[in-house]
Amino acid sequence: MIRPIDPPLGLPWLLYGMLGCSLALNAVLAWDRGEAECPEAAVAREPVAAEASAEPAGAPESAVAAPAPAEEPAPAAVAATASPGEAAAPTAAAPALGNWVVTTGTVEHSLARTFQEADPEHGDALAAVYSRLFVWDLDLRRDLQRGDEVEVAWRQEQDGTYTIAAARLHSHKLGRTLTAYRWQATGDRFPSYWQEEGTEVPYRLVDGPLDDYEQVTSLLKDRPHHKGMDFKTPVGTPVKAPRNAVVTRENWRWTANGNCLELRYEDGTIAKFLHLSENEAHPGDRVTAGQVIARTGNTGHSTAPHLHYQLEKGDRVVDPLDYHQVERRRLPAGDMAAFQAEVARYDALLGQALASR
Ligand SMILES: [Zn+2]
Repeated sequence: MIRPIDPPLGLPWLLYGMLGCSLALNAVLAWDRGEAECPEAAVAREPVAAEASAEPAGAPESAVAAPAPAEEPAPAAVAATASPGEAAAPTAAAPALGNWVVTTGTVEHSLARTFQEADPEHGDALAAVYSRLFVWDLDLRRDLQRGDEVEVAWRQEQDGTYTIAAARLHSHKLGRTLTAYRWQATGDRFPSYWQEEGTEVPYRLVDGPLDDYEQVTSLLKDRPHHKGMDFKTPVGTPVKAPRNAVVTRENWRWTANGNCLELRYEDGTIAKFLHLSENEAHPGDRVTAGQVIARTGNTGHSTAPHLHYQLEKGDRVVDPLDYHQVERRRLPAGDMAAFQAEVARYDALLGQALASR
């Protein structure tokens, strides 16, 4: 037999207790937030980052290998967004998965507006992904000029992220065209972007904390309140000590930073590694350059797996791009012939879209 429920004599005390706990928790959270060094915005941008798909390295896309016949020009209504694989169904607003769509535009005001006008549905996301490609050579908020031309071959993946296959930017300020072609170099774990002559587009830190990552998703110069460099990388990627160091702290401000490590390099520079999944060194440990000290994760204020790497000298935040040597890699010689065939295919695709404008 079911007993009737007792009158809730304890309820007021329970409520007071819950209220007290909630106030205390809020105070802790607010305190933690004040110290956030990798604010949420840094990570919120990551879902639009170029995504490594299951596509094999260098495999030609059907849309690229077999472009639509030239006698089927894109109609005027979609002149700015020509989809070679879909010329027969130009009214479809969303591109078919697996096909590269080409979007081109001429800059009148901002990059965002250029892409919005070229493609109202995908323009904002495209502008974000596109601007990350060329952040190494230009500040696209400042350095774009009226009349600059943007071209990009892209597709949206099943998970909603955008992948760029090829992009060009004709810059009046630089007086030349920047190019970026997606390619997974032999021996690399992820595709990257390469200029047509085989030099990598993104710079890499020499003796940085990660051997391999998908993409740099945030630089110091991107936003004023973000104090580090963010690397998109799967959970569990080994993090190496860039220099000989002593471990000075771990897991402080956990709500914001998640599992984290702080090192003091021999020159006195403080290095912070945030959002880790596992710490493999602990306060007091001496570590040597190249030693694995942790695994990357998605802990604390982080909405996508990444490593936040931050450097400080005294009160000053130091840009890892200034502190480390940087390099632009060259494609392995053995990749060049296949890469350049791919470049030619993408260039034909971009040129076709330009011709139909
Ligand atoms: Zn960060």
